[in-house]
Amino acid sequence: MEILRRFTITLLCLIVLTPLGLAWKAGTAKVVITPETPIWMAGYAARDKPAQGTGQDLYAKALALEDIRGNRVVLITTDLLGFSDEFISGVAKRIADSTGLSRDRLLFNASHTHSGPALARVLDIAYLMSPEQKEAVASYTLSLADKLVSLVETALSDLQPCKVTHGYATASFAINRRVETSSGFVIGANRAGPVDHSVPVLAIDSERGSLRAVVFGYSCHNTTLQGSNYHYHGDYAGVAQEWLEKRYPDSIALFVTGTGGDSNPYPRGTRELAEEHGASLGRAVADALTGPLYSIAPSIGATFDTVDLEFKVPPSRSVLEKQLEDENPHKRLHAKKFLAELDANGSIDSNYSYPVQIWNLGNAITLVALGGEVVGDYGFRIKREIEAKSVWVAGYSNDVSCYIPSRRILREGGYEAEESMIYYGRPGSFQPTVEDRIMAKVHELSAKLREEE
Ligand SMILES: [Zn+2]
Repeated sequence: MEILRRFTITLLCLIVLTPLGLAWKAGTAKVVITPETPIWMAGYAARDKPAQGTGQDLYAKALALEDIRGNRVVLITTDLLGFSDEFISGVAKRIADSTGLSRDRLLFNASHTHSGPALARVLDIAYLMSPEQKEAVASYTLSLADKLVSLVETALSDLQPCKVTHGYATASFAINRRVETSSGFVIGANRAGPVDHSVPVLAIDSERGSLRAVVFGYSCHNTTLQGSNYHYHGDYAGVAQEWLEKRYPDSIALFVTGTGGDSNPYPRGTRELAEEHGASLGRAVADALTGPLYSIAPSIGATFDTVDLEFKVPPSRSVLEKQLEDENPHKRLHAKKFLAELDANGSIDSNYSYPVQIWNLGNAITLVALGGEVVGDYGFRIKREIEAKSVWVAGYSNDVSCYIPSRRILREGGYEAEESMIYYGRPGSFQPTVEDRIMAKVHELSAKLREEE
């Protein structure tokens, strides 16, 4: 009888509220995560001192959504370069303990700003920090974990009826950054290379019709500001979020990084350009909010799993010993790390347990969130192969522990395929199977969600 009563209420809610799009609930929260002291900054190995000040505050933001059946998910976006699986798993475990939300229902995305703080155990080899500086980064990382846990709790305590709609904009400042030269691929501006200018938009409106939150994505490195900048800053993504929050003062704007592993803003290099690109992205999102926007039915599906990726045969002891003499200090640190692993375990671990997460919103949006610095080829392929009204592909999610090159980029070589693996402390480049393994997991999880509907 109770089941019948609940079914009848649910059905009535669906009939009465769904046309109005008000059967969703949403809660929002944001917190400043700018370090209180000047600590080492993430992203550029050539930096030789900690931050010198703040150009723009950095934020972590959360959007909690609840569907008509009470299913919940929380999207957490951060003005950070990236984070480790170890850090995010620890935060997710604490959130699960306090709220009951399982791992598949929490999605953490990093804006990949290169003007934010370094975090403990991310890109260790890239930063030549003193022990005191390492201590400051470790202490910041601990305080960040506390902030993220209470951020999610606050968003969940704020759930109110709302309407969820979806649309698209475009922004044109991203450019493919892989340029072929006689000595291989280098980072530059490749006007002919593949790039994704689409900007997926999710709008959350209150019962009264005012905007409470807007989520928007873009596939482009958040690197308008370069290594000469020593001031904390959210880069173009931070500017776009601030622009939207000024335009809609009762809302929060959340930026989700897409598959921008092989694209850069163009042109780049100054604060003015970061402001210009950010404002153009903000304007594009504001334009999309004027419509047409499509109503999303109040249902949520969520799934999360890992897939084993393999690195190529790890370097031998003799190769590593030779690397100890390299003039590049990062290569020396890389050799030291793997010689220590050889000494301790007798072998080098060449597996990587890689996170793949999918959310299905209203049987209309399939949001595929991949770990790492995912290159554009994955975005194009997933949008082509996954059947859904709208496919939204995010990279830089849940674990940002190296580049994720496609089969094509592995074949071509260059920074995203090879050299970056030194800085990320990986044994070497990926096996060519990496793309198919990830795609197989995306298809498997997407089919699983469809079956559960
Ligand atoms: Zn990057």
